[in-house]
Amino acid sequence: MWCISDFEIGKPLGKGRFGAVYLARSKETHFILALKVIFKSAMEKAQLEHQLRREIEILCHLRHPNILRMYNYFHDQTRIFLMLEYAPRGELYKELQKKKYFDDTRTATYMEEISEALIYCHAQKVIHRDIKPENLLLGLRGELKLADFGWSVHAPSLRRTTLCGTTDYLAPEMIAGSPHDENVDVWCVGVLCYECLAGYAPFEAATRLETFRKIREVNMTFPSWMSDGARDLISKILNRTPSLRLPLKAIIEHPWILNHSSSDLSMRRSPM
Ligand code: AMP
Repeated sequence: MWCISDFEIGKPLGKGRFGAVYLARSKETHFILALKVIFKSAMEKAQLEHQLRREIEILCHLRHPNILRMYNYFHDQTRIFLMLEYAPRGELYKELQKKKYFDDTRTATYMEEISEALIYCHAQKVIHRDIKPENLLLGLRGELKLADFGWSVHAPSLRRTTLCGTTDYLAPEMIAGSPHDENVDVWCVGVLCYECLAGYAPFEAATRLETFRKIREVNMTFPSWMSDGARDLISKILNRTPSLRLPLKAIIEHPWILNHSSSDLSMRRSPM
């Protein structure tokens, strides 16, 4: 079993609600990783131990180039330590803030990568349920890494869940408190595509209630600079009816994605 003295601790990478994340290096192998420290007392106070256990169990079993790896975990008397893959280029959210919005190539590449990650998750019967730029990290070559499985569940979820997730990314069926399935993640892919290209989320409004109303009605307009191909893709994903949303496999085959994505995955797919 691992313990904290097996590591040299480097710079802090960020702060979370229940602790912090540090760059770390294994003393023995010099392997670089991100060490997430969570205080047990804070978890217990928020009654989130159950959720954390689920996140750990789910993440430990997932292996995909576009999903942040969890190598292992350990704990001492007061803290839980998650040994995570280090994502050197940080958060997608910060990139988007810096650049305001992304071009078609960059967005299409992200769309392909997130779709591939979700096809894999859904095949393992895992729904992420909280996809948004804050939960997407970037690898060494800028490739997308889906992180933060804190809200994820094993599909299908028949629970009428409390409103988890950020308002802007909530699917209509989540707002309605209806049972939901993998298609909630597909909805979020559409919202993400829009936000990457526009620089703001499609249903943003002054109040939570107004956002909910816009989502229920799928009431959105496209900024003038958004291309026809992207508008077509987003319109086909953001369907009120979960089963009518463009499936993930069809998203990565959409002409706009095929024309613009520069991900390694699409290189592999295209005939030589
Ligand atoms: P979290 O508690 O998971 O929200 O993490 C807090 C912050 O630490 C994030 O917003 C990231 O900026 C950073 N961070 C978390 N995990 C990693 C990682 N594996 N690699 C690089 N940065 C990370």
